[in-house]
Amino acid sequence: MNMQANNGNLQRLDQSHHLHPFTDFRDYAQHGGRIFSRAEHIYIYDSNGHKMLDGMSGLWCCNLGYSQQSIVDAVTEQMQQLPYYNNFFQCSNQPAIELAKALVDVTEDRFNHVFFTNSGSEANDTNLRLVSRYYQLQGRPEKKHIISRKNAYHGSTIAAASLGGMSGMHEQTNGLDYIHHIEQPHWFEVGPDEDPDAFGLRVARQLEDKIDELGESNVAAFIAEPVQGAGGVIIPPDSYWPEVQRICDERDILLIADEVICGFGRTGQWFGSQTYGIKPDLMTFAKAVTNGYQPLGGVMVSDKITDVLLNHGGEFSHGLTYSGHPAATAAGLATLKILRESNIIANAADNVAPHFQARLKELEAHPIVGQVRGRGMFAAVELVSDKTSREKLAPESAGAVFCRNTANNLGLMVRQTGNAMIMAPPLICNTGEIDALVDMLSQALDATA
Ligand code: PLP
Repeated sequence: MNMQANNGNLQRLDQSHHLHPFTDFRDYAQHGGRIFSRAEHIYIYDSNGHKMLDGMSGLWCCNLGYSQQSIVDAVTEQMQQLPYYNNFFQCSNQPAIELAKALVDVTEDRFNHVFFTNSGSEANDTNLRLVSRYYQLQGRPEKKHIISRKNAYHGSTIAAASLGGMSGMHEQTNGLDYIHHIEQPHWFEVGPDEDPDAFGLRVARQLEDKIDELGESNVAAFIAEPVQGAGGVIIPPDSYWPEVQRICDERDILLIADEVICGFGRTGQWFGSQTYGIKPDLMTFAKAVTNGYQPLGGVMVSDKITDVLLNHGGEFSHGLTYSGHPAATAAGLATLKILRESNIIANAADNVAPHFQARLKELEAHPIVGQVRGRGMFAAVELVSDKTSREKLAPESAGAVFCRNTANNLGLMVRQTGNAMIMAPPLICNTGEIDALVDMLSQALDATA
């Protein structure tokens, strides 16, 4: 078949019939986009044959790249053996059981149970169901308010979008009225004239202020990512997390760590909570748990919660047809096997990430770069028109969007969030591949300046 002709037809069909997530429908119907047709190692290829180094690991999920045959084999074998059965009503299946145990093994001791979902959004919905049941069973139903952060992303269902703090999403959502948002620990955006640690303490203490405002006996939980990913790889000052942890401990507030992006090696350890010394009561995961090859999410539930739910709960009236889907959990099991039996997380943390962060830091000298921030294997490069006043590069179409498009055309997949270029390359990159990534980004910056 003529590939180009076929591609033109696909483009037309896509523009005519397919509504894409987080996309301006009209713009897409008029201009279309890129159709990806294959991938190998850390490279993705569109249907025109254009090769790109995937600087975003898909959507922060293919941490081990695209050629992990053992995951493909595990899914294939599982599909042949038992393609589906549910986990409702006293039923279970082997890969779901084994993945639950494997997740318990790689998380801290207080996590002995997992609830599976298909996605991070559903996992955060599940958090809300778990938290409200936990307090209900203790005769404290009024403890229902949840505190989150501005500019957070926790998913796209009504509950997850309400937990998130992105104004564009709130404008389009009738959100839940018991969710409240405090400031994000985004020093460059919110408090660049303050000492970073003083700023970190100040924004952490907004949690305490919000608890006082709502009444401690009414507040159930605080939810946050260890490092806010989609919001712009927002690296909290060192002072931030210890203060948040102190407040949650002293004020009897559950702490939910959303590890959907940070989990499975992105920050340098298995989980961002370890990197930042956080002790969450609930932990959301998704994405890289299957290396992105199958849809799967879930919540790690600590003993503090299960002690109540298991011993006093009766039926927990919550679940999804595909909770613990055999093929998805088989993919998770194969992914965890690779992570546990290889030194990929340690190698990325010790060898690749320092090189990645150091090479990107060099870009801070560039005339349109205001800040380079990162941790482990993700980073953001913030674009400005004036380095002193930190004025953003405007208009967008000549600034960050242009920079991203130029990088894409040069062969680098990066993401653009506001005025930041965002990168989360696969953990399996070597330093030469990181050099190629930084060189393409640098050329895109030159073209934009
Ligand atoms: N939480 C975080 C931190 C995320 O980054 C995302 C997705 O990007 C989600 C939750 C939602 O996950 P999903 O898209 O699988 O529903």
